[in-house]
Formats: sequence, structure tokens, C-alpha cells
Amino acid sequence: MNKILIVEDEIAISDLIKIALENRGYMCQTAKDGEIASNYIEKNVYDLILLDIMLPKVDGYELLDYIRKSYETPTIFITAKSQTEDKIKGLNLGADDYITKPFEIEELVARVEAVLRRYNKGNEEQNFGDVSINFANRSVKKLGKNVSLTPKEFDLLILLIQNRNCALYREVIFEKVWGEELEFETRTLDLHIQRLRKKLGWKDKIKTVYKIGYMLEI
Ligand code: CA
Repeated sequence: MNKILIVEDEIAISDLIKIALENRGYMCQTAKDGEIASNYIEKNVYDLILLDIMLPKVDGYELLDYIRKSYETPTIFITAKSQTEDKIKGLNLGADDYITKPFEIEELVARVEAVLRRYNKGNEEQNFGDVSINFANRSVKKLGKNVSLTPKEFDLLILLIQNRNCALYREVIFEKVWGEELEFETRTLDLHIQRLRKKLGWKDKIKTVYKIGYMLEI
């Protein structure tokens, strides 16, 4: 699973990007200033970095320069400015692409996927045991045969995969998949888990964890 670092000091934007990318099967980490970001970059390996230019402490240009000198991580910079000189400066520093605020989240996701494809890191389709998931069109196959999932079943599956081998609390699963649409209802969740187990033939893989909730063991 591709790991993406989001460097952005506006938490609302950062959260929006994180949710959109996680829904597409990416693992995301966020940093709210240039200093935190450079610490993360030194300690972790990322498949892509999304980099805001106007940042506290170390700005995006400086960070981009540092990334380019020491790492080969693909980078897309985010700029609030529409001036051509900023884009040129970023691209000259070696960024792979840029996006101007305000942007449509779908456009950002498309740019991320295009850059990853260029680096042969595309994760449109990934295998998890005998199940393969296409994140781009949200389709699922079991041993090569299509499995039809409802949108909520798909979201639930992605959440279990992102947290595989970790026990998840029922309330947490419910909140992540259903958000504020519904009051927490254990029956709805249990029913979706049962259907997912049946459709994927994962009765033994999606485990009930006593007094906690569920865990995908894979
Ligand atoms: Ca900013």
C-alpha cells in the first residue's frame, strides 16, 4: 500500500486530502509544518509527498530543495498563489507536478495517481490474500471473479484492510464507515460484517474480537 505524506498547515485541507486518499487505499501521514515534515522524511519512506508552499518554520520551497537533494520521493506541491513564477520555481526545484488552491479534491487524487503511475507505483489494483481490490473503480474480485459490494460494504472492507491485523472497536468502525449519517447501531454493523464475510468467503479472516469488535487477519 502506497504511503503518502501530506505537508499542509491548514488542518481542514489536510484532513480533506487525507480522507480522499485513504478512501482510495493510500496510507497517509500528515505534517503541519516544514520542521515536522523533514523529521518524518528522515525517519520514514514515502511513495509520494504533497507539499504546501506557504508553511510555518521551513517553507515548501526549502523543503522541496532538501527532498530533491537527499531523496527520490515524487513530490507534488500545492500553492495558493496562481502566479506563474511560483509554479516555475517549484518545477525548477524538481517537483513532479503542482496544484493550485482552491482545487477539486478529485483533481488532486487524479494528479497523485498520475505521478505514482509515472513512477510505476500505481496502486489501482492490489491483492490481499485471494481478493484483489481495484481502488480506482472500487471493484473487488475473489480468485478472478467479480464480487458485488454495496458502497458501505466496500468502505468497510477498505477500513478493515487499512487496519489489518489490528482489532477495531465497533464504535470506531461504525463512525468511520457511517460517519454522522446514523446513530451507532451494532446490528447494522454486524449485518454488514456478515455479508462481507459471506461475499468474500472470509468467515475465518474477519474475526470477532470479544468485547471489542472486529479484526481482519491477513
Ligand atoms: Ca499553507
